[in-house]
Amino acid sequence: MIWNREAETLRPGPRAALQLERLRQSVAWAAERVPFHQARLGRVRPDRLAQLAELPFMRKSDLREHYPFGLFAVPTPELARLHASSGTKGKPTVVGYTASDLDVWREVMARVMVAAGARAGDMLHVAYGYGLFTGGLGFHDGAERIGMTVVPVSSGNTARQHLLLQDLRPAGLCGTPSFVLHIAERLAEQGGDPRNLGVRYGLLGAEPWTDALRAAIERAFGCRAYDVYGLSEIIGPGVAGECEARAGLHVCDDHFLPEIVDPATGAVRPPGVEGELVLTTLTKRAVPMIRYRTGDITTLTTEPCACGRTSARIARIKGRADDMLIVKGVNLYPSEVEAALLAIDDLQPHYLLVVDRRTTLARLEVQVEPAPALIERCGGFQDDHPLLASVRRRGADRLREITGLGIELTLVAPHTIPRSEGKAVRVIERS
Ligand SMILES: [Zn+2]
Repeated sequence: MIWNREAETLRPGPRAALQLERLRQSVAWAAERVPFHQARLGRVRPDRLAQLAELPFMRKSDLREHYPFGLFAVPTPELARLHASSGTKGKPTVVGYTASDLDVWREVMARVMVAAGARAGDMLHVAYGYGLFTGGLGFHDGAERIGMTVVPVSSGNTARQHLLLQDLRPAGLCGTPSFVLHIAERLAEQGGDPRNLGVRYGLLGAEPWTDALRAAIERAFGCRAYDVYGLSEIIGPGVAGECEARAGLHVCDDHFLPEIVDPATGAVRPPGVEGELVLTTLTKRAVPMIRYRTGDITTLTTEPCACGRTSARIARIKGRADDMLIVKGVNLYPSEVEAALLAIDDLQPHYLLVVDRRTTLARLEVQVEPAPALIERCGGFQDDHPLLASVRRRGADRLREITGLGIELTLVAPHTIPRSEGKAVRVIERS
């Protein structure tokens, strides 16, 4: 089922014409109302989509430097809502929405949720955090737009998540993949079976995750799990999402125009070549964003999709440009480590990369938890047990195969790796 058939199946010609018309409006709107854009864009109004590449980039630091309202294009009384992202580097970044922006957000959420199988009348358990974070309210509003029954549980309190899942029996579950997996594991530890909950689909995102983690979640719940992508700087979740073909995430590119650039030089890369995703908002009025560097690494395709939607698709996010580790001259994303570890049955998707930069050549240690069944076979967690030693060797070999690096692999006792109720922490640096 397609939520908005007209918009989602536009032919390439009319789609490009609509994008160009909206791009001109968005650039004019930004330049005429925001001194920051005025200074950078002047009187430039693209008359071809390709001219977008000539405009300057925006970065997260621009939002921080203009905190809180310096990039807003409307006075605060015209704002319907504010959200903010957590300020890991000082002040949070504040984003705002006019009533029409919220309407666009509900529309794009409805598209990506319906593409993943959500239907009017289904019950949806929302385990994303509510509040300034866009996850909870983004899915909540999209679900109401579709006509679903929303259960606004928010994140945290795993025992309450279990109780509500067991008693209310929702068709859909949404949250970060690491937290949703945590919900399943805790239930299994307490003697429950997550497959008996009757969850049919999971709508997961807000952190990069691999197909291996997807398989673990699908096995745990006996459901289908779909990737939903977004970021608060652009609108929140709903920028892109997977359809049932799961051949990349359809970008709502009549509202958000995607480009892929070389992370180092900023040069535009052609479809199929990996690089950093850059997004331009085409309809956002409160805080228009022109060529925003998302930091997310992916590829773009405009090949037709089996589902009939004609929008551009991005591959699943490989990682963030700033999460990329350079270890002994090799570029490495945490998602590559995850894929290597999850290829081994006896390891759990709970891992941590510890980068030690106190030595001349950075040292990387990967800590991972063995599966409960393996611990049982060893009669408890004993670091020097031959079975654990053999799994450790297999894991280290697999890591070397995938990354080309000799990485130290340490098996740690169950529950040593901190569990996340939001976005998982995968890397810690010692310097
Ligand atoms: Zn599709």
